[in-house]
Amino acid sequence: MSLTAPQVPSPAPHPADGLSVWPRSTRPGSTGDLTVAGVSLAETAGRFGTPVYVLDEDEVRERCRTYRSAFPEADVVYAAKAFLCRAMAHWVREEGLGLDVCSAGELMLAVTTGFPPGKIVLHGNAKSPEDLDAAVRLGVGRIVLDSASEIARLAAIVPHGSRQRVMLRVVPGVAAGGHAKVRTGTDDQKFGLSVTDGSARHAVARVLGQSRLELVGLHCHIGSQITTVKPYVAAVRRMVGLLARIREQHGVELPQLNLGGGHGIAYRPGEESLDVRRLATRVRAELRDGCAELKLAVPRLTIEPGRAVVGPAGVCVYRVLAVKRTGPHTFVAVDGGMSDNPRPALYGVRYAPRLIGRHSTAAPHLVTVVGRHCEAGDVLAEKVPLPGDVRPGDLLAVPVAGAYHLSMASGYNLVGRPPVVAVKDGTARTLVRRESLDDLNRRDIGL
Ligand SMILES: *Cc1c(COP(=O)(O)O)cnc(C)c1O
Repeated sequence: MSLTAPQVPSPAPHPADGLSVWPRSTRPGSTGDLTVAGVSLAETAGRFGTPVYVLDEDEVRERCRTYRSAFPEADVVYAAKAFLCRAMAHWVREEGLGLDVCSAGELMLAVTTGFPPGKIVLHGNAKSPEDLDAAVRLGVGRIVLDSASEIARLAAIVPHGSRQRVMLRVVPGVAAGGHAKVRTGTDDQKFGLSVTDGSARHAVARVLGQSRLELVGLHCHIGSQITTVKPYVAAVRRMVGLLARIREQHGVELPQLNLGGGHGIAYRPGEESLDVRRLATRVRAELRDGCAELKLAVPRLTIEPGRAVVGPAGVCVYRVLAVKRTGPHTFVAVDGGMSDNPRPALYGVRYAPRLIGRHSTAAPHLVTVVGRHCEAGDVLAEKVPLPGDVRPGDLLAVPVAGAYHLSMASGYNLVGRPPVVAVKDGTARTLVRRESLDDLNRRDIGL
């Protein structure tokens, strides 16, 4: 069965529809439904079951293109940890992006899908021997070193006569990000080499002393869900200063600068997102002026967006299993939750779910939407308006579900991870199938 909807041109969504954070192809459908890329969400839920993750392929591709056109002079590298599957790797490659991975698992998936290893960057604050072995064996373009001990470990496995390109992740001392758990630009967290205590300087000297490593530049990633350009401009200034100091101390001008990702997006209507074009303009200007002042050649820039490429392209559809009215509270419980989306439990974030699949004339009520898992923190939304007659069997669709949901999914309560369905031009197709009880049981060897 193929899900094809007639390609009737529909009017662009009106802001009053509250669709500002949905994929751009989203349109109101018949009887309270929504279509994404011409595919009915209610029909998709019926066909594939719930919970189901829907990914708008053209939205992903357009977001890749926005980055490519805003940063034509830079390497744009998609951070796979936001969401990775074979189709995703294929799409970002077709759009001219590189890939940033942080394990042998992500690396193998990409390379076996045909992703050119030279366009891959390996990250990780604690890379395992398997991660480093796979990276060297497959020939990844750049490995970003994150600790002093990694330097000799990597050099020891690079074959005689070859050189592995590396960057050093440093902590620029810039605090930015939407939550303490995603701020990675200061000295009080686990990532990178400190500039203030001299670790970064020592690491530079050690890498330069390794004949099998080629130091091509510096890397920093200051945090996640950053919605203003200012911290990036500050990071560029610090990093350029550091490049100048490295030249002074070692007589080398490093040719590359990797500014990481962390570009913020809106999860609910009215929230801020980072303006990618403005970021490009301001970063380019700061880099040009900073380098001119210190008489440095402008390094080649790399940026690593993850969330902003895939987050807004995803929608999750759940089915309501229970509605509980307790005193002043109404709890609407759905058939998924923290096992497919741990972000609310991890960071306390909240979403804006919407009833789909039937038209309700009931007055809106403020409700709390919760997951099915055995944790009180399994809360998707609080005090969100849903029709007062919301009931078991209803469908709730959650926008901005493309990043850091399924990539962080767990086996909690043995519920099984939901499938991923791509929608494009009125057609839906499975990218990743649902995890079955059989899948889960197979790993358990028994008594
Ligand atoms: C997580 C991460 C990214 C991507 O972050 P987003 O917030 O998804 O843009 C990029 N670079 C590094 C090193 C990261 O750890």
